[in-house]
Amino acid sequence: MPRNTLDKLCGRYDAIVIGSGLAGLSGAHLLSRQGRSVLLLEHHHQLGGLAAWFKRPGGHVFDVSLHGFPHGMVKSCRKYWGADVAAKIRQLHDIRFENPDFSLSTTYDRADFTRLLTERFRAPAGRVAAFFDHLRAMSYHDRDTRTVGGLFEEFFPSRPDIHRLLLEPIAYANGTNLDDPAIAYGIVFSNFMSRGVFIFQGGTDALVARMAELLRAAGTDVQTRCKAVKILLETGPDGLQRVAGVRVRSMRDGAERDIACAAVLSNAGLKNTLFDLLGAGDPPPAYAAAARAVRLNNSSAQVYMGIRAGVELPRHGDLVFTSAAQPFSSQELTDLHTTSRTHSFYHPETRPDAPAPRSAIVTSLNQNWADWASLDAGSYAREKARLAEEAFQGLERKIPGIRGMVDWVEVATPRTIQRYTLHECGASFGTKFEGLQVSLDLPKAIPGLHHAGSVGIIMSGWLGAMNYGVIAAAKLDESLGSAAPR
Ligand SMILES: Cc1cc2nc3c(=O)[nH]c(=O)nc-3n(C[C@H](O)[C@H](O)[C@H](O)COP(=O)(O)OP(=O)(O)OC[C@H]3O[C@@H](n4cnc5c(N)ncnc54)[C@H](O)[C@@H]3O)c2cc1C
Repeated sequence: MPRNTLDKLCGRYDAIVIGSGLAGLSGAHLLSRQGRSVLLLEHHHQLGGLAAWFKRPGGHVFDVSLHGFPHGMVKSCRKYWGADVAAKIRQLHDIRFENPDFSLSTTYDRADFTRLLTERFRAPAGRVAAFFDHLRAMSYHDRDTRTVGGLFEEFFPSRPDIHRLLLEPIAYANGTNLDDPAIAYGIVFSNFMSRGVFIFQGGTDALVARMAELLRAAGTDVQTRCKAVKILLETGPDGLQRVAGVRVRSMRDGAERDIACAAVLSNAGLKNTLFDLLGAGDPPPAYAAAARAVRLNNSSAQVYMGIRAGVELPRHGDLVFTSAAQPFSSQELTDLHTTSRTHSFYHPETRPDAPAPRSAIVTSLNQNWADWASLDAGSYAREKARLAEEAFQGLERKIPGIRGMVDWVEVATPRTIQRYTLHECGASFGTKFEGLQVSLDLPKAIPGLHHAGSVGIIMSGWLGAMNYGVIAAAKLDESLGSAAPR
């Protein structure tokens, strides 16, 4: 009989994966399928990280980050999780923009954007084609130093309306601004432009449940409510510090246990991994300095609205980018009082197997941690109520009577994200571009320690995180050589 929840763990694994975001889940799955013994640790009671959902009374199920991902998820899910998972990916056909510069509906792919840019925005067809060809050819290895603003000026000079069309949805999603590297924007935007915007039919809960089932079938030891509190190092024969194990704390009873391993794949935030899970002097000084300079991405807030049973939510687009800002500004987008909101409309077809047909609206806003971190309880409650009220006011213009259709409202803030994922400053898309190199260099700085998770914008979002988890796990697997597998 185990004395506490940690007693049932093995004393040693080939790899310990810290965190069950899409990168952690996908990395753990690959390692287990390679025959490695794998322990997956998640501090929360639910797997998935930001690929999260929550249930509320009255049959409501809310998805936290299922607003849309690129078509590349079909290939990645098929390769890493199987054809049945990939088969549930469905396209969103009605993406809308409503702002003082334009109001339009699009399928958000290259063909439709070419139509819009040439016919509606009157951009020369040759320029538009050259822009898309240029984006498609962009590679992380180019070391292209242009900014997003520079790229836009090169192809569409003095056209702030076109710049808004091209940047706004990406900015809403991951906080990219005109000063960020063009390369990160180009790769993410191109991914969407290839075929449009997609979601997982059945909801995040169905996706993560299937992933958990596949992980357990592959032999992964999956442990929720188990927090990694320290990555343990030892000095190797070469004098270098390398990974020796992980100190694990049970969130049920507070018990702690050191578990040995040959390597760690950390899906915790990059900064959390380097500055919370390692000791102060552990990362070599030059590497630590580069890591300290990495900027976090901004955070976000959401208003979740559950539609009353039996009420049919009018169709008003699937994903609607709204803003009253004139001109479009990255600063306005993350302001505490921003007018820029993305509404995701979930109709019953999102969860066709639900016991009863239900609809929901999730309104998202970019936000900065600093605006929320130090609010006292009263101010925090007031700001949350304000966000809900403003979301209703915005929606009322499109759907009169919306208040009467809703019977559950809940607001999440950067503090919510921080609480559930532990990410520093509630960063919703990891780090800015420079975080990618720091993440990639980690095994060189500390042999046996790998990082996978939202970094650099390119490796964030559902597709980026999933792909990065597999890439990092494959490197970890290679580093273990052929002797270690069971
Ligand atoms: C509101 C919102 C909306 C979004 N919408 C979209 C969208 O529509 N499309 C899209 O593609 N992307 C979206 N994203 C981004 C996307 O969800 C994330 O980029 C992606 O899911 C992150 O995956 P990840 O693997 O990097 O890790 P995360 O999901 O961040 O997970 C990290 C995991 O590690 C765990 N963890 C951390 N520290 C420890 C520890 N010490 N011990 C144990 N466990 C630990 C955390 O609890 C968490 O489960 C959205 C994000 C937010 C916040």
